[in-house]
Amino acid sequence: DVYVLRLGHRRERDKRVTTHVALVARAFGATGFVLEGVCDEGVVESVKGVVARWGGPFTVECGVSGRRYVRMWREGGGEVVHLTMYGVNVDDAVPAIAASPRRKLVVVGAEKVERFYYDEADWNVSVGTQPHSEVAALAIFLDRLFRGEWRFIDYSGGFLRVMESPRGKRVERKG
Ligand code: SAM
Repeated sequence: DVYVLRLGHRRERDKRVTTHVALVARAFGATGFVLEGVCDEGVVESVKGVVARWGGPFTVECGVSGRRYVRMWREGGGEVVHLTMYGVNVDDAVPAIAASPRRKLVVVGAEKVERFYYDEADWNVSVGTQPHSEVAALAIFLDRLFRGEWRFIDYSGGFLRVMESPRGKRVERKG
């Protein structure tokens, strides 16, 4: 089980990026998205809308304290992976993370991330040492963690499914 915790969301400014963090989480194999601090209805409703149409399982939580969530996660036996350009390279970290049976909480930031998360994380993982984007970092981390197997995820529920097609655009209603 992999959940993604999004820190430091600013209403308006981060609406699209935060929504993309959640959609990338869902598309590449995570089963939960947690928004720290605010409950931005725009983000929450659009992610829930995608789950309603395209399926799950995918849970959405919001308005939590990031610190408390991380502590609870660890107390419950889970491990915490913080994505940061200052961490250990993803290729070096992923084998041990993938081998561990513990539930994983992947933490991504917006602006500056507090020291707390660097200290509390079981892993500080970098996707290269250049500054880029939480969306890109999350996509690559999950792809490595699941070794590309996200393409075989069988989303249940929802009512829409895309049929691959060389000329686009075939969408089917699920049985
Ligand atoms: N400068 C900020 C800091 O010092 O924490 C990070 C800003 S960056 C736009 C937002 C988020 O993208 C970071 O918190 C991190 O989760 C992710 N990120 C950006 N570049 C990354 C990299 N090279 N490796 C892993 N994560 C990265």
